[in-house]
Amino acid sequence: RTADLTGLPTGIPEALRDEGIEELYPPQAEAVEAGLTDGESLVAAVPTASGKTLVAELAMLSSVARGGKALYIVPLRALAAEKKAEFERWEEYGIDVGVSTGNYESDGEWLSSRDIIVATSEKVDSLVRNNAAWMDQLTCVVADEVHLVDDRHRGPTLEVTLAKLRRLNPNLQVVALSATVGNAGVVADWLDATLVKSDWRPIDLKMGVHYGNAVSFADGSQREVPVGRGERQTPALVADALEGDDDGDQGSSLVFVNSRRNAESAARRMADVTERYLTGDERSDLAELAAEIRDVSDTETSEDLATAVAKGAAFHHAGLAAEHRTLVEDAFRDRLIKCICATPTLAAGVNTPSRRVVVRDWQRYDGDYGGMKPLDVLEVHQMMGRAGRPGLDPYGEAVLLAKNADARDELFERYIWADAEDVRSKLAAEPALRTHLLATVASGFAHTREGLLEFLDQTLYATQTDDPERLGQVTDRVLDYLEVNGFVEFEGETIQATPVGHTVSRLYLDPMSAAEIIDGLEWAADHRNEKLRALAGETPEKPKRDRSDSDDEPDGFQRASEMVADDGGSGDDEDGDGADGGDDKETNEFETDRTYPTPLGLYHLVCRTPDMYQLYLKSGDRETYTELCYEHEPEFLGRVPSEYEDVAFEDWLSALKTAKLLEDWVGEVDEDRITERYGVGPGDIRGKVETAEWLLGAAERLASELDLDSVYAVREAKKRVEYGVREELLDLAGVRGVGRKRARRLFEAGVESRADLREAEKSRILAALRGRRKTAENILEAAGRTDPSMDAVDEDDAPDDAVP
Ligand code: ADP
Repeated sequence: RTADLTGLPTGIPEALRDEGIEELYPPQAEAVEAGLTDGESLVAAVPTASGKTLVAELAMLSSVARGGKALYIVPLRALAAEKKAEFERWEEYGIDVGVSTGNYESDGEWLSSRDIIVATSEKVDSLVRNNAAWMDQLTCVVADEVHLVDDRHRGPTLEVTLAKLRRLNPNLQVVALSATVGNAGVVADWLDATLVKSDWRPIDLKMGVHYGNAVSFADGSQREVPVGRGERQTPALVADALEGDDDGDQGSSLVFVNSRRNAESAARRMADVTERYLTGDERSDLAELAAEIRDVSDTETSEDLATAVAKGAAFHHAGLAAEHRTLVEDAFRDRLIKCICATPTLAAGVNTPSRRVVVRDWQRYDGDYGGMKPLDVLEVHQMMGRAGRPGLDPYGEAVLLAKNADARDELFERYIWADAEDVRSKLAAEPALRTHLLATVASGFAHTREGLLEFLDQTLYATQTDDPERLGQVTDRVLDYLEVNGFVEFEGETIQATPVGHTVSRLYLDPMSAAEIIDGLEWAADHRNEKLRALAGETPEKPKRDRSDSDDEPDGFQRASEMVADDGGSGDDEDGDGADGGDDKETNEFETDRTYPTPLGLYHLVCRTPDMYQLYLKSGDRETYTELCYEHEPEFLGRVPSEYEDVAFEDWLSALKTAKLLEDWVGEVDEDRITERYGVGPGDIRGKVETAEWLLGAAERLASELDLDSVYAVREAKKRVEYGVREELLDLAGVRGVGRKRARRLFEAGVESRADLREAEKSRILAALRGRRKTAENILEAAGRTDPSMDAVDEDDAPDDAVP
């Protein structure tokens, strides 16, 4: 019984009881018996929705009660806020909760005063690299979804981070939460922890496959779900759940699909189904919710989401704004939204159970694999585990879809009868070691080859490998690479990080990305004048915009970047051709702005680093981008590979395609146009933009550290990516709540700067913001206007030129 729990801060057992948690679930009880609340390390491998979070909370709270400090490591940034909000309910018992996200480099000093800190593994790794003061005060660390050490891209970070934290704090309690993987015992061995493994679930789960007119469940039962001619399976299953069981109890559905775009289009279709089952009250509540969603932001995604929500369906993926996600999740739990179409993020830790789960897509495009790849059993089980709301449903139903009897049998074999895969360390891969060895040297965990190997010996890789030689060989190759690129130096046996090496590690860059960026910027410095001449050659009839007295300059180009710096990037070169102007004028970019490197050159540089996921070339793209490549040749910061260097050239073009997306973005091309043009989702634009912003920030730091004269051009390019605007809007777009579209509308209405926001007639501003009073007030407040109220303002009073 929770009331009998000891070692927790005063009041917590009672609070748990008040939440309806009177008895521990069996795996939780087993964990407590194993010493969870006495500081013992533990691996809990239990199914989704079986109360892992409470296991973590009991460990953290008892650790804090003993005067310690706890860290909860989440796998995704999107989950950090979620967990923090969940733990904040302990604040009334004197527990301070903090979340550390965002900026990799900030050292998070303020977190010292928190009792429980939530962060992603990347963030924790970065805090260790930056020697955050509180790291060695930790007494308890929770690793959520620890089976993700198996992830090729992100696993090694979690693995190395846990090893480092344990090394910093030898008595650290490690609580690792895992899905039911095959070899949880190995993970427990690695972490010197007790294993609690269970298949127990709080509510029965029936897994099955839909084919023809029925779902066949693993327990031998069937449920008829007919699919009409020309109809699809998913809507039929969603409608069937809404028809209700024998008691007429309506059931909601979670539909898992394989991409953000599919989540959005499926939601659009499901909305036509859910709409038929709404009551009048629900309709008006949903209309209100849709308005709230539109208020959060003025984007296409927001609009699409609101449209679906008004009809009782929604989509959910990592590209959604945090406020949108919360609104959708809450409304789904309140049974107002009847169906969510989601990417697997929702399965990975957000607690949104549903009567029925439909796993529509069990394959996903995988770039490294070069095609559609079946999902892991583990992932599918996690999605299926979201079926069944304890206390509300008699059982949960999780359904896969098959087109014929053979496919049905295959799905049973592949996912329903199958056990989850074993986890295997991915640390010995070179890109992972490149990053982590540099960090290990830079942050002082090891100074010799022997020391490095000894450190690596504490990883899961070492626990698992049967080829101990391998790690030594890769280590040598990686150390060579780091030395050749000037990130580490050897002095006899001793290895030291160079100043640039330290910076690279702190910036959280893959050393290979850093090397590419440094090469590119140095190349630009070497070829500056030659390239400027080539660029100018493209538009010979244009007068040079050169206000510097360039007597002592050979060609007047030298001052180009300083010149722009002088007038703050605005000035008289504005062509004022509005929001969609970025389209057809790539080649004219330098008529007005002779900075070098050009934004496109810089975007291409960061897009060809391994830290950027590039866009793939589709059919026809090779020709298009080859042509563009020659057209823009003088802008690239590096030698264009010849067409005969097949792979290198192809990579170059993919980077160019990605860079063009960024260029469209900063040229204020509509998000819709961009998604169409590049075949991506709105969330993907976000992803590229955020990565580019971070990489350009890193490039700025490297340029300034190496004293390269492109610092200003890099900063400018970064700011424009951040806001997605042309130069003249930078000031406006920096005001909270404005954004690229509103900035353009305000600008067109003659409100051109933050200062204008403080002084212009309110009616003009309101008209430019299409009469949205609340939005206008928020913006004026953010701009520092003393009287932001729009109460007595009438947008119709605005002069005609205020309506763009
Ligand atoms: P997991 O992290 O394992 O996927 P959660 O921790 O989100 O699962 O738990 C799922 C739900 O079960 C939560 O709503 C939680 O409040 C509830 N829960 C956890 N433990 C208990 C318990 N002992 N008694 C009743 N409800 C519980």
